[in-house]
Amino acid sequence: MKIFRTVAEMRAWGNARKAQQQSIGFVPTMGALHDGHLALVRRARAETDAVVVSIFVNPLQFGPREDFKRYPRPVAHDLALLRRARVDAVWMPGASDLYPEGFSTRVSVGGLSTVLEGAHRPGHFDGVATVVAKLLAGVWPARAYFGLKDYQQVRVIDRMVRDLNLPVKIVACPTVREADGLAMSSRNRYLSKREREEAVKLYQALYLGRELISQRIMTDAKRVVKRLCGVLKTIPKSRIDYVTVADPVTLAPMTRIKRPALIAMAVRIGTTRLIDNVLVD
Ligand code: AMP
Repeated sequence: MKIFRTVAEMRAWGNARKAQQQSIGFVPTMGALHDGHLALVRRARAETDAVVVSIFVNPLQFGPREDFKRYPRPVAHDLALLRRARVDAVWMPGASDLYPEGFSTRVSVGGLSTVLEGAHRPGHFDGVATVVAKLLAGVWPARAYFGLKDYQQVRVIDRMVRDLNLPVKIVACPTVREADGLAMSSRNRYLSKREREEAVKLYQALYLGRELISQRIMTDAKRVVKRLCGVLKTIPKSRIDYVTVADPVTLAPMTRIKRPALIAMAVRIGTTRLIDNVLVD
């Protein structure tokens, strides 16, 4: 498994692969890898000739009071997992490789970036779109793999790629969950044992929402949201950032629920902020 730092190293390797008519599958991550990430790698391996994973904790997408500094960085463990998953190359740029002195461009995706996560984390999706554009430009993959755990992120990236005519296919992959339903996340490791037990209520609330909508028990989005908040409020030391029933394409909140519908939420448990969602078809 090759390990690269600079854009030039990454690009030279990618160009050599493409010269051999190999298709490249790309999985961008921030590391602290778990089975959700590895599911993207497996999908990429199945669909392309050579797999590149990037590990970069992108300062641009964190707000000033967010967890950039304490974000877990277990690099040796991550590399061992990737080696075992038979990844061909890992790209671990430093901040100065991607943002050298004088760097001042931002990719801003408008509309979709301003609601839900975007409303609670100003500038977050500009940071995400900017780094993903740079990473894509370094790897130039045929396909790039993203998890639906970050549903809005996939929508934003897909919009960017279409709007800029970037020659890459964005592949959205299902959310991988723990046995009790909690969505796998690098941030789950912040949770204490008690908080981890309580965190399953996010999934329970989403599951309840899916039942209420798919069985047509409720069609009024406000009532559904109220029921779900009732479940989430039983988590000690929790704070709900948002719970919404939204159009899965525009991400606009629904009043009267039509299907397909997206139920999305962000909840803080103690100092840990978790997001999750489910699509009701
Ligand atoms: P991150 O390292 O958290 O930035 O995530 C890197 C990629 O892995 C993103 O496309 C995420 O959506 C995806 N991902 C993270 N957690 C999961 C999960 N539980 N299931 C599927 N994909 C995931």
